[in-house]
Amino acid sequence: MDRKVVEMAKQARLNAWAPYSDFQVGAVLETKSGKIYTGCNIENHGIQGICAERTAFAKALSEGERDFARITIVCAKKGYEPTEECLPCGYCRQFMSEFVDDNFKIRVFDGSTVKEYTMAELLPHGFKL
Ligand code: ZN
Repeated sequence: MDRKVVEMAKQARLNAWAPYSDFQVGAVLETKSGKIYTGCNIENHGIQGICAERTAFAKALSEGERDFARITIVCAKKGYEPTEECLPCGYCRQFMSEFVDDNFKIRVFDGSTVKEYTMAELLPHGFKL
């Protein structure tokens, strides 16, 4: 399953709109019920781009999903295969924390293996109301 999910993330990455950075990111968000939502980064000449992680979450949330198991992320410059892990930015970490528990899995592909982190590891002291 890991290899299949990584391939799906790599495929999602190819849909990235990244004319300013040429840095393409793909994400696969899996719900606890087994549904899958993909996402890619979408840049904009304004300042309001969106990362692959939040794209996947926005797709899932707008379909009514609320129960998330894990997200898998791949990244690389346009035209290249992923070779380094790509951890979510601070904005995405805070955004995701609204909808997941501390054990939510955030997985990153480094070109050969998938490393797994928990939400609590990547955002140990997130903002909460
Ligand atoms: Zn982000």
